[in-house]
Amino acid sequence: MEYLFDKQVEPGELIEVADGVLWLTMPLPFELDHINLYLIRGEGGWVVIDTGIGTSTTKSLWMRIFEQLDAPIVGVIVTHLHPDHVGLAGWIADTYNVPFYMTQTEYFTARAFAAGRNGATNTRDVLYYQRAGLDDPMIAKLTSGEGNGYSSVVSPLPISYTRLKHGMTLFLGDNEWVVMIGRGHSPEHACLYNAKKNILISGDHILPIITPNIGAYSTEPDANTLADYLNTLPQFKSLPRNTTVLPAHKLPFIGLHERVDSLIAHHHEHLQALLKACKEPKAVVDLLPVMFRRKLSSRNMVFAVAECLSHLNYLVSEGDISRALNDEGVYTFKVCAASKLAS
Ligand SMILES: [Zn+2]
Repeated sequence: MEYLFDKQVEPGELIEVADGVLWLTMPLPFELDHINLYLIRGEGGWVVIDTGIGTSTTKSLWMRIFEQLDAPIVGVIVTHLHPDHVGLAGWIADTYNVPFYMTQTEYFTARAFAAGRNGATNTRDVLYYQRAGLDDPMIAKLTSGEGNGYSSVVSPLPISYTRLKHGMTLFLGDNEWVVMIGRGHSPEHACLYNAKKNILISGDHILPIITPNIGAYSTEPDANTLADYLNTLPQFKSLPRNTTVLPAHKLPFIGLHERVDSLIAHHHEHLQALLKACKEPKAVVDLLPVMFRRKLSSRNMVFAVAECLSHLNYLVSEGDISRALNDEGVYTFKVCAASKLAS
């Protein structure tokens, strides 16, 4: 893999990565401390791709960006519903009164998360962590929050949107971008490919160095999101080897095919490690150290449980392990005698 730059662009600054494609970053208050955003030339101005988290810091950095542009904002595209991507989409789209593009599942899931517990209970959140084998103090820590974390960092979404669909071509000025859907990291994540420029805007679906989180969360505990992810990665190998990949985190790179292969290999290594660990029945909580060597903060615990469960769900659906509910109400996972992967 080859990186096109040796460091991140400074927040508030713009770098032209190709004719009509600008790169910028916004800070994030997490371990992963930045997100890459892009501006692509459209009809009469610039189309924003992802928006940063909804904080006053991000807003003021956007104001600095707007001042540097030679033309107005004419559209907002959001790859997926995570707050660092959709955070200021409503604010930018409504300020400029421009089309707001998202896929259907991402848009409505974002609306549901923004509504929080209006119309939904959280008893199954508790059950989800009990089934994973977490202790009561940890469960209380992860589920007792009163506020809505999502809407505190996502400005209100526009009440209407323009739908992105897999395989459709977006005609933006003289530029044609094909929508390619990736699943698993989020339900219907949009990537954008421009054949003429040979550029893929990959969002979080394909990242260099770090692997996108693939989780089965409490909203759908039995989800086989790892199969979704592994099934929607190979399509990117139909793009040229030398495609420039513009990811949402870390640096733009060339080496799409190798990266797809290594992401697939990474998950298969985790699957093998889990199979080895499940010779005897194990709960999710017992299996976390198999996948994560570092000590987990409570924020990371949420992602870790979901990631571990997505791999276990994959193995259950492949018939490699079986799941049982023990007397304490915890799911245990054990390798099947007939497992082809384990042999
Ligand atoms: Zn994401």
